[in-house]
This record gives sequence, structure tokens and C-alpha cells, in this order.
Amino acid sequence: MRQTKLFTKTTKDTPKGEEAKNAQLLIRAGFINKEMAGVYSFLPLGLRVIRKIEAIIRDEMDNTLNASEIFMPALHPLENYEKTGRDNIDVLFRTELATGRSLVLGQSHEEVVVPLAKNHIFSYRDLPVYVYQIQNKFRNELRAKSGILRGREFSMKDLYSFHVDEEDLNRYYEQSKKAYKNIFERAGIGDSTYMTFADGGTFSKYSHEFQTVTEAGEDIIHLCSDCEVAINEEIIDEQEKCPECGEKSKLVEKKAIEVGNIFKLKTKFSDAFNLTYTDEDGKEKPVYMGCYGIGVGRLMGAVLEVNSDKNGMIWPEEIAPYQVHLIPIGDKAREKAEEIYENFDQEILYDDRDTSVGDKFADADLMGIPYRVVISDKTLKKDSVEIKKRSEEEEKLVKIDNLQSYV
Ligand code: ATP
Ligand code: MG
Repeated sequence: MRQTKLFTKTTKDTPKGEEAKNAQLLIRAGFINKEMAGVYSFLPLGLRVIRKIEAIIRDEMDNTLNASEIFMPALHPLENYEKTGRDNIDVLFRTELATGRSLVLGQSHEEVVVPLAKNHIFSYRDLPVYVYQIQNKFRNELRAKSGILRGREFSMKDLYSFHVDEEDLNRYYEQSKKAYKNIFERAGIGDSTYMTFADGGTFSKYSHEFQTVTEAGEDIIHLCSDCEVAINEEIIDEQEKCPECGEKSKLVEKKAIEVGNIFKLKTKFSDAFNLTYTDEDGKEKPVYMGCYGIGVGRLMGAVLEVNSDKNGMIWPEEIAPYQVHLIPIGDKAREKAEEIYENFDQEILYDDRDTSVGDKFADADLMGIPYRVVISDKTLKKDSVEIKKRSEEEEKLVKIDNLQSYV
């Protein structure tokens, strides 16, 4: 991508009323735009990051969890929420048809996916099945001060699993922990993200959250320094010890962001819609369910809260908008840069603007693309370019012929 053709410009101004580091950086770099509190547009560079996170999630859903992708609507009939008793939850956005029929904007999709599953699940032979989607949710959040960590409209991956019994649900639930671990590792926050025991609601003792430790977090978790699992502060009264090693003294309090969670719904929603199947003996039984969420935008924001410095963002390679930020200095270098840009098969953001070197470097730091590649008359004399990793301090001279294999 030529930077002269990029739809967005960077800005030095920190947006007014935007306190969150993730949103400040993303807005300054032109990755997102704030439309109102809790509502953001994703612009070309930001959308590339989102697409890469989605690709990781899809890969793990399809291949580790054998789930099928679907896409459900954002407009839901209110009646379905009356059946589950969720018509009065505080974050629900309501609207209505011209006929007066009441609708809600989907805040989650149990009320849609369960009636939908009734059309496709009849006997034990139809189970287990797993469906997921990546889709926008709407929640009338009271506080929307954390940038893209807490939106009022936000993208979520939600997976729903359907099973003959609790045992099969447990099997899949354990498998989902593995997929979630892979996702956070591949997105670059594996080292700071911990599986956390949380309240399981009326049916289960626990659910599990995946919490990324950072000062920007809205949750408090108690992390076991030995076992690398945590307990959410909200359930700590019932469970004062580490659930793995049983020690209390090793728990350390940390602020964290919930980037994902997994929940055994058991028959809570199947009962509400009478979702049943016939077993091998012809008996009718309730379907067991699990649900598994990840906030796609929240994950992107969490990566930045963990990976950034005073100069800007630092993207992990697998989710960076581009791999190489190519910066020529001087006319001869410009010619060579054009050649590299045209012939290189890496994802390159090419700074072909007529701006000062200082501005180019400042923008490169702000945008946080993993490899900054500078060509100047000086490096050309050695048939080389100067490469600096965004996450490191020192620069390296690399022969132009070796550039492709280096990055
Ligand atoms: P929280 O406790 O932060 O309010 P939640 O427990 O209500 O979130 P779920 O309903 O389980 O979250 O949603 C699944 C995932 O969606 C969460 O783990 C989180 O990553 C993401 N998420 C939830 N609410 C938001 C939001 N307002 N903005 C962005 N992402 C969100
Ligand atoms: Mg939560």
C-alpha cells in the first residue's frame, strides 16, 4: 500500500474525551474513528488488524473445534427474550417495527440460535454440533470509557455447542480451552492472558474467562504465581484458594481485561425453547449446550494495552496490518524503494509521501508495523537497507538481496 493512497492521515492530536490508551493510539494513527462514545468505525489499517484476528479465530474454530460458521441477524424478536427471561436485562437496546411489534438489537445470540437449532436437531444422530459466527453485538453499556475494550456496538465471535449429555459437553469444553489458548498466543498476548475461574451462574460451579493482565483492565483477578490460573475477584469469597494447587498465599491481585469466556449453559436455554432430541431408546431428552465468546475488537485493544510504548503501537507479526514499513530517504533511494515495493511479496506499507524523515519515522513508530526498512544513499552504497524491528532498539544493515528472507 502506498501511503499517498491511504484513505487516512495520522494526527498528533489526542482526541478529546478519549481517555483509553488503545483508542488514543488507534485514532491518532488513523486505524479507527470515534463516532460517539462506545461506537467506532474501523478504517483500512484497523480493519486489516481485525481481519487478521478473525482469520486466527476462524482457523481455530474450523480446525481445532470443528465448528461451522453461520451468520445470524442483529434484529431479534422480543418474544424470544421473554421466553428466556432476558427481556429485562439492563444493556438491552429495544426498537420496534412499524406494526408495533417489539424487537431488540442482539446482545448475544442464544435467543436466536436455540430456536434455529430446533429445525436441525431431532435425534442423537444429529449431535454433537457446533456453530459459530463473527457478528456485531449491541449493548447499552453504562460506562463506555475504555475505547474499543467496551463498545456499545462491537464485534464478537460467539460459538454454541449442542450435546447429548453433560459428559460430551465437558469433553468439548476442555477442547475449547485449548483453542482459546492458541488464539491468544497467536494474537501475541499468550504471555499475559490467564484462564480465570469465574461464576458459573445457576447451573455450573464455574465458568472460565480469559483475562489479559494490564492496568487498563476493568476486572480484578487473583493470579496464582505457580499455576498461571486465576480467580475472578467476584467469586473469590467462595474460592479463596488457587483451584489448581490449593494454595492461598500464592494469589496475587492484578487488573485484567476479559478477552474471552466459555460457559456451560447445560439445559438453561434448551429448556426455555424445548430443544430436545430422541435418544437410542426413543426417549426424549434435553440438549446440553455450551457457549464460547471472544470480543474481536476488545482483543485488538487488549493487544495494544499490552504492546505499546510512548511512541506508539507495537503489533505482533500475525496480526499486524502490514509486515514491512518501507521508507526511502533521498531520490536514488526512492527509485530503489519503488523497485522493492513492486517486486517484493511481503505486505508492505510504502511511505512514498513528500514529508520529512522525522515525520516518517514518527508515523512508523505510531503505526507499529513490525519491520521498519529504511533505504538511503548511504545504505545503497552498500547495496543494503537498514532494518529496525519495532519491538527492538538497534538497527541492522541487511543486503537488499537478503531482505525477502530476513523479514
Ligand atoms: P464484561 O464482563 O466485560 O461486561 P461479558 O461477561 O458481558 O463482558 P460476554 O457477554 O460473555 O461478556 O461476551 C463475550 C466476550 O465479548 C467477552 O469476553 C468480551 O471479550 C467481549 N465483550 C463483551 N462486552 C463487550 C463490549 N461492550 N465491548 C467489546 N467487547 C465486549
Ligand atoms: Mg464478564
